[in-house]
Amino acid sequence: MAAEVLATGGFGVTVVDHMPSVGRKFLLAGRSGLNLTHSEPIERMLERYGEQAGRLEPALRAFDADALRAWSAGLGEPTFIGTSGRVFPRSLRATSLLRAWLRRLGDLGVAFETRTRWIGWDVGALVLERGGARHTVSPDVTVLSLGGASWPRVGSDGGWVPVLRDAGVVVHELRPANCGIEVAWSSAFAQRHAGQPLKNVELSIGGVSVRGDAMITASGMEAGPVYSLSAPIRDALDRGMAVLAVDLQPDLDEAQIVARLRRRRPKDSMSTTLKRTMGFSATTVAWLREMVGAPLPTEPADLAALLKEVPVPVLGLVSVDRAISSAGGVAMDEVDDGFMLHRMPGTYVGGARRDWEAPTGGFLLQATFATAVAAARAAVARAT
Ligand SMILES: Cc1cc2nc3c(=O)[nH]c(=O)nc-3n(C[C@H](O)[C@H](O)[C@H](O)COP(=O)(O)OP(=O)(O)OC[C@H]3O[C@@H](n4cnc5c(N)ncnc54)[C@H](O)[C@@H]3O)c2cc1C
Repeated sequence: MAAEVLATGGFGVTVVDHMPSVGRKFLLAGRSGLNLTHSEPIERMLERYGEQAGRLEPALRAFDADALRAWSAGLGEPTFIGTSGRVFPRSLRATSLLRAWLRRLGDLGVAFETRTRWIGWDVGALVLERGGARHTVSPDVTVLSLGGASWPRVGSDGGWVPVLRDAGVVVHELRPANCGIEVAWSSAFAQRHAGQPLKNVELSIGGVSVRGDAMITASGMEAGPVYSLSAPIRDALDRGMAVLAVDLQPDLDEAQIVARLRRRRPKDSMSTTLKRTMGFSATTVAWLREMVGAPLPTEPADLAALLKEVPVPVLGLVSVDRAISSAGGVAMDEVDDGFMLHRMPGTYVGGARRDWEAPTGGFLLQATFATAVAAARAAVARAT
């Protein structure tokens, strides 16, 4: 995106990427439905970026969801709004969008140097490595859009962090965001129930609650509501302990649950009662037993209280390479309003890797695009 803005602004542009082709994570994001942005009003959208909203606001207003949708349509992929307000390209995939985009960049004269890794600076020149050989280039402006550290096999390996740190730039550790959690399951439970959902549950931690289906994995839990809570879970882990509260019956209050539990038939086992009166699946019942680790309370009031708040001790987040995105990156104070590094005039940081994070829902790509546009526009303005 930075290349497009720079080339449109009259620059000769070279995109350098160490992978054999560009846009691999973009393609990966498209595999499960490319959620380009969100249709909610900008004021609500800004809240998704938490404490960095203020720093991102000018960029997000200057290249907002409408601008991104128009850009996509201009590349032959009109967008539509899904039921949750999320915005997708017509094909749902990134493939044809990327193909049309690369054609446009080619027409603008943008050159691509793939299999080429940027490894640092040498007296102000960029040092690039290709096939073991090094060469230097001295462009008028540089936009670093190096991604985070999730899914390194598509290119974003975070290898740039020590390079920038060595240059004196403050870079906060890249940590997992929008990711699953590790929970201590017995192997018998994991083998039997991994891949099964806990349907319509509400997860809470640190005053934040999210509803949805949580997926059981071999080593913990994942899916939308778990991803949404990764920031408060990370904060709690940093403070020493994270315990997720899971409400298995978010549509009922305790009194309603008690009334249902009292319909227990004398011959029914506890499992049968929970399935029959609560509508729980065998997996939900097994999960409850696994989490409690002792016989379930038989008194309806006690059981109802438990069902409304099952404590789940979180061992940790999954590692950053398995996360959807990363938190951390170049500290916001290291860049000016145009995302230029104070320490390196002419070098900008665009895309996902300044110190912001956001939930899934299209907010990651929206800010990635918007900050790349802002950085490149600032570069064009500075150089002309
Ligand atoms: C499975 C998955 C699904 C996703 N789905 C969505 C979604 O639907 N909606 C959404 O908003 N977001 C989604 N995301 C997040 C989104 O893909 C990222 O926010 C976005 O790709 C970030 O763009 P970027 O250009 O900053 O970084 P990247 O896309 O990671 O690109 C960085 C590029 O830099 C290259 N690079 C890195 N280091 C060097 C180096 N030293 N030298 C040369 N090249 C280098 C890499 O090879 C890579 O091509 C998803 C992510 C994943 C993993």
